[in-house]
Amino acid sequence: MSAVKHDRSGLLPMVCRGAKVTWGAMSYRLITLVLAVIAPIAATAQPCPPHALGTSRILEVDAATFPRIGRKQFPQTLPLQHKELVLTFDDGPIPATTPKALDALKAECVRATFFLLGRNSITHRQLARRILAEGHTVGHHTYSHPNLSKRPFAKALEEINHGFEVDDDAIYGQRRTEPRTPFFRFPGFASTPPLLDALARRRVVVFGADVWASDWNDMTPAAELKLILQRIQAIDHGIVLLHDTRAQTVRMLPEFLRELKKRGYRIVHVVPAGGR
Ligand SMILES: [Zn+2]
Repeated sequence: MSAVKHDRSGLLPMVCRGAKVTWGAMSYRLITLVLAVIAPIAATAQPCPPHALGTSRILEVDAATFPRIGRKQFPQTLPLQHKELVLTFDDGPIPATTPKALDALKAECVRATFFLLGRNSITHRQLARRILAEGHTVGHHTYSHPNLSKRPFAKALEEINHGFEVDDDAIYGQRRTEPRTPFFRFPGFASTPPLLDALARRRVVVFGADVWASDWNDMTPAAELKLILQRIQAIDHGIVLLHDTRAQTVRMLPEFLRELKKRGYRIVHVVPAGGR
């Protein structure tokens, strides 16, 4: 975890990696580095409209400090402040709905985290790459979405690793069992203590959730919107679980984001600490 800095455009939140820098001591090298990072993005990015929800800040998450998060499943969640939300999407990417979710997020300059299924990322590589290219964090959700608590330990681990490998192959062209972004969510939150321990040893952060839309149940987008807004109000801050594979969710998403803005919520973008 580290300090964070707000980017007013909503497009380029900057992370301060804990280094204490004073203006007097700031070196030419650091200024050059900052300019080098900003210049290409400034040249290509569209400015964020003033009415957009935007992304308030970036939060680095390290498994050493936060091995498992989300109050629905675990004792703690991320250190979020009043009305701060982390948006997460599970089970994609799929062509029917994921692009619409991405369009809605882009229109509001919001960055989210997508927990991909390996079988989908490998089938829809371009879509998986688009998620990354648009600045979102790409986490993992196994290869084929089994209930891991009902599988023998070794088989369950195999399924997790297969997801890591296939996702990273699709996105970065590299097969690796230690994923570039060590963020994982159990399908159906069906974890077991030995699996949680194994992931913690590998410094993989396990995401639960603080609130969800129950969007696995069929309902109208209007009903889903009402439900999720009520639930968010009740928890104040936390990790929101949605599914970019659900038509009703992507249909309510533009209005959901506008409502969050209207109600004074701020979006926090989570990224792995340090990178790999
Ligand atoms: Zn899922």
